[in-house]
Amino acid sequence: MTGRSRLAALILAAALALVIVSRSLFRDDDSGPHEISGLTMGTFFNVTIDDSDVTAVELSRIRDTIQSRLDQVERLMSTYDTDSELSRFNRHESAVPFAASQQMLEVFSAALVVSERSDGAFDVTVKPLVDAWGFGPPGRPPVPPADSVLAALAPAIGYRLVEVDLEAGTLTKANPKTVADLSAIAKGYGVDRVAAALDSLGLMGFLVEVGGEVKARGRKRDGSSWNVGIERPDTDRRTAYETLRLADAAVATSGDYRNHYEIDGIRYSHIIDPRTRAPIRHLGASVTVVHTEATFADAWATALSVLGPDQGMVVAEREGLAALFLVRSGSGFEVRRTSEYRRIADEAIED
Ligand code: AMP
Ligand code: MG
Repeated sequence: MTGRSRLAALILAAALALVIVSRSLFRDDDSGPHEISGLTMGTFFNVTIDDSDVTAVELSRIRDTIQSRLDQVERLMSTYDTDSELSRFNRHESAVPFAASQQMLEVFSAALVVSERSDGAFDVTVKPLVDAWGFGPPGRPPVPPADSVLAALAPAIGYRLVEVDLEAGTLTKANPKTVADLSAIAKGYGVDRVAAALDSLGLMGFLVEVGGEVKARGRKRDGSSWNVGIERPDTDRRTAYETLRLADAAVATSGDYRNHYEIDGIRYSHIIDPRTRAPIRHLGASVTVVHTEATFADAWATALSVLGPDQGMVVAEREGLAALFLVRSGSGFEVRRTSEYRRIADEAIED
């Protein structure tokens, strides 16, 4: 697929995903819920606000606030925008500390926590591998990269090569060639930023979604919780595998079914295992994580996708994470839920 048709497919897919999340939310009168959607970070965002006191003027202010928060995250963290702060950090081939924005420091700090806790499965410095396998700005290679090409990239890869100094406000590279890709965490961070902005505007019930990463706040006006569909990991159709009812929580899903290509019948996914320097190869099709913060839900969903259903379940239980794995089995899927996920799902059924 060309970059443009891939973007079009992505936008269509995101639009269909929104239908799953938001269908049946709306009342017949015009008292809401209010829906605000648009484009950001190469995907769709959608915010549903269930608050009858919101006036048209406030709604337009809310819309501007949401768009500006998301635009800010994109301006800082896009790898496609050569002027973004992340692109400047990546061009900063030096061991001299790089003065970073508060937002970049927050995202790098969260990324490092998940890297440490996932035994290095999550690693934002895998960017050269992401690019080599054809999932970055350079686009798809005609043949898979040779082992020697991947091995030559290895010295600059490793999350420990970037040091975050919150007091000094800097990021420092131990290897000047190290570069980062925040795609696995930035959408979740954007969701948290929007939710925080809506909180400070005094809104009590809303659902924020950016490209499939979701955060629910409070309840709907009728007292019920928000429904979030977990997708069946099919490439060609979008249906919900199961529905989660949430009050104050974030959900993110990661998987190899959204962005991949095939050469000679082998599927190459956009999720790279830093240990093998190659796209993941296990049978896990998707991982969904429920967390208080979308930033962590997003990063953990990617980390557990790297680890796969076997190791991933062990790490998720060890970390007390609410995670659901969908594993390919015959023509369908086998589901595995951690004990924390089962607890949350049971609580939602009882409420
Ligand atoms: P997500 O859709 O949130 O799982 O993020 C996937 C994206 O994160 C990929 O398209 C890559 O840009 C990047 N990525 C791939 N592998 C990793 C990894 N092991 N750790 C962190 N980011 C990764
Ligand atoms: Mg992610």
